[in-house]
Amino acid sequence: MEVPYYKETRVEGKYLPYGLLETVLKDYEHWNISEGFSEKLYPIPLYRIGEGKKCILLWSQMHGNESTTTRALLDLFKLFAEEGYPFNNCQLYIIPMLNPDGAIQYTRVNGNGVDLNRDAVALSQRESQFLRSVYNRMRPHFCFNLHDQRTIFGVGDKPATVSFLAPAVDEDRNVTEVRKKAATIITKMNNYLQLSINGFVGRFDDSFNPNCTGDQYSLLGTPTILIESGFYPGDYQREQTRKYIAQALYVGLSYINDNKVGTEGWKHYLEIPENKKCFRDYCIVDDKNPDDKIFVQLEEVLEGNKIIFIPKPVPESEGKDFLAHKTYQLSEICLGNNCNIRSCIPDILAYIRKEVENI
Ligand SMILES: [Zn+2]
Repeated sequence: MEVPYYKETRVEGKYLPYGLLETVLKDYEHWNISEGFSEKLYPIPLYRIGEGKKCILLWSQMHGNESTTTRALLDLFKLFAEEGYPFNNCQLYIIPMLNPDGAIQYTRVNGNGVDLNRDAVALSQRESQFLRSVYNRMRPHFCFNLHDQRTIFGVGDKPATVSFLAPAVDEDRNVTEVRKKAATIITKMNNYLQLSINGFVGRFDDSFNPNCTGDQYSLLGTPTILIESGFYPGDYQREQTRKYIAQALYVGLSYINDNKVGTEGWKHYLEIPENKKCFRDYCIVDDKNPDDKIFVQLEEVLEGNKIIFIPKPVPESEGKDFLAHKTYQLSEICLGNNCNIRSCIPDILAYIRKEVENI
């Protein structure tokens, strides 16, 4: 299957604040049907595309610092605007940014410091209330809950560039019909991704937590697909992952559009390997003493309107059995005769800081 892709070039990189989104969305106003408000009273626009009978609700960036899937949704907006909307049997309800307060501050939580993805039962925040009101009004046949995951997630010896979950609906993680339908759609998306990123797709942990939105909506009877966009080698801004997500969404929507979604294919979902927190960003190995090594993790900090990556040593208490996205021998960084990992930490961090200045 040839999957079309258009990049919305007005948004690039991990920092996507509400103001920039608003500028881009002006071009798609004809799809805008209503809006909610965040705790800090920023608008949360809702879009409807298409008029088909199958109703699909997609929301992104309920965690403010997770913009990759929002960029992917904007790429789909652009594609539909350029080529026409192809899914005649589906109407899409899209909330591109559920957490504008967090997006502006570049935080996971909203303006009150609440994790919206733990607020699905309490509904204590305006953002959660808005999403739920849209859900209640539309009673969607399918949901897509869109996120980013950290660079620490891996599948086998590869980074988890994309992870999927068909959320559990009970403590025993019974695979109900609702979950099987979500899993069947995931299988189609995974099959497509394997063509380009073979081995980089993981299955997310399915512990049940009804406070999480995906678990809650699955419990209410809607097959819900959680997508976590992750790291691809070298792609700290997640511009490549963004394309994989847009195309995977296209494949999933296209499958729903063309088929009566059943449960036949769901077992292949279990063949997707589980992702693990097995990676750190850097590993520095002492050439003279290869058992001596240190891991370094990049922390993201908002500076002006840019994300700065700050290297931080991984505490030894976290362990030593990690894979790394990039490995250096100490002698590649330090040229002195008496170098060792511990005494050279400042040099190591300075070296990495320079390397990641413009990623
Ligand atoms: Zn998230």
